Amino acid sequence: MIGTPHILAGGAIGKRAGSAYLAVPLAFASHFALDALPHVDTVSYLGLGGLKSDLTIAADTIVGAAVLLVLARGHKRMRWILWSGFAAAIMDVIAMFPKWFPNTSAWPGLSHLCSFHSALSGSLPVSEWPVGVLTQVLTVALAVFFLIHPRERTRQAE
Ligand SMILES: [Zn+2]
Repeated sequence: MIGTPHILAGGAIGKRAGSAYLAVPLAFASHFALDALPHVDTVSYLGLGGLKSDLTIAADTIVGAAVLLVLARGHKRMRWILWSGFAAAIMDVIAMFPKWFPNTSAWPGLSHLCSFHSALSGSLPVSEWPVGVLTQVLTVALAVFFLIHPRERTRQAE
């Protein structure tokens, strides 16, 4: 999936999890669950490469982070929400380590983690974009709902 659904889903997990120690690992794990859903990546969909690809990914990440910041602002669990959003998206950065820094491919566990991520995160063919876009739109809609919608138990617990 692209960055925005990952970031917002992580933020929603951060808001709803009862503990920061639970929220961040769950948000990190959510990355793999969301990547396993059928989806089309923006870069594949638009047929981009090189600098345009990098700029598109950067813009997607900035939009996701900005939306999460706006929705989390002033919330008692703002730090959890933001850290969880970060944890939910970071795997796509970690997956680039062996490409950017070839020495990191020898790090214990990194190649297994990257292989696992890569096995889950295949993009649908561009011809199947309606499904691949819909899953991401629904993910964003659900995450925004959980970020906006107050939960009585959460308020009482705080
Ligand atoms: Zn991913």
